[in-house]
Amino acid sequence: MRHRATAPNRRDALAALAGAVLLPWAGPAAAEVRHERHFLFGSPVDVMLRQAPQSPAEPALARVMRGLQHIHVQWNAWKPGELGRINQALREGRSVTASPALRAMIRSAAQLEQASAGFFNPAIGGAVQAWGFHDDVMRDGARPAAATLAAWRDAAPSLAQIEWRGDALASRNARLQLDFGAYAKGVAIDRALDEFAARGQGDALVNLGGNLGAMGAPGWQIGIRDPFGEGLVASLATQGREAVVTSGSYERFRVLDGERCTHILDPFRAAPAAGLVSVTVLHRSAALADAAATALLVAGPQRWRAVAQRLGATQVLAIGPDGRGVASAALMPRLQFAGRDWQRRITAV
Ligand code: AMP
Ligand code: MG
Repeated sequence: MRHRATAPNRRDALAALAGAVLLPWAGPAAAEVRHERHFLFGSPVDVMLRQAPQSPAEPALARVMRGLQHIHVQWNAWKPGELGRINQALREGRSVTASPALRAMIRSAAQLEQASAGFFNPAIGGAVQAWGFHDDVMRDGARPAAATLAAWRDAAPSLAQIEWRGDALASRNARLQLDFGAYAKGVAIDRALDEFAARGQGDALVNLGGNLGAMGAPGWQIGIRDPFGEGLVASLATQGREAVVTSGSYERFRVLDGERCTHILDPFRAAPAAGLVSVTVLHRSAALADAAATALLVAGPQRWRAVAQRLGATQVLAIGPDGRGVASAALMPRLQFAGRDWQRRITAV
């Protein structure tokens, strides 16, 4: 069966659930599970702990939630917060100080931008805004003016154009606007798991709108969502500490001049990425998995393998608009397909 090339219209808050889901554990009886659900980053956030009896869960949970809340406010390019202030300074050509955590994120993102050959580019804020993806609500309308996009492309913003002086950053490129929408959730997952581990809670799962990070034995059972419908493509059990991050062109989009435009942009064209509908990356680092999933979706069917290799992303599932996909040789043996149909349509590379 061939799948429809179009996904259902899910531009409400639930659209952000795309990616992965947590499945009930079918193995040995689970220890007592503490589960908290909040609403952050425009999507549900779940934190689960299989409690270590010797360490109380409450302080660890409270601290992790405070950390996520902080990131939600301060690292959003389009809300009043630290990143918003930094973007304003960059637009005005001023130098601006940044907190240690934000400096660390900008620096690690700059390395990943280079490693991804520029397909992952968090200096893309100006293009995101031109296409209207900075808004919470995805309205239909017209494409941005060609001249606006050409001006952005000519300026070619990159994190490599950031100059550091102590705790302060500046750039000579006034079109450089930071947007960590493709990366901050991954960083947040890593930080949450680090916090749990440091507090003796080594058996935890953090789900930020379908991007999951987990650790502990006997692993957590994860489902990878079908990009075309409500079901699953496959499930797998996490092994040790591991993150499962998905970028989907169907998650957020606008219909502009009658054409569906995804929120994930190709920085070289200043235009929506085309060629793949979903890329899932498994990696020990959720930050790397997040950057890589975005980069590979943009790189597309011909180039993603080379970019994955540069990034050190060995466990990848990439699905195209025809409903066919490929899984890397390292990931394929771990996938339990949700049905014969998906089993036939996903091949190993
Ligand atoms: P993700 O779902 O992780 O792929 O992130 C998508 C979000 O990252 C978009 O909503 C934009 O805010 C931003 N973004 C879009 N294109 C890129 C890109 N090529 N590199 C980095 N960030 C991007
Ligand atoms: Mg990403």
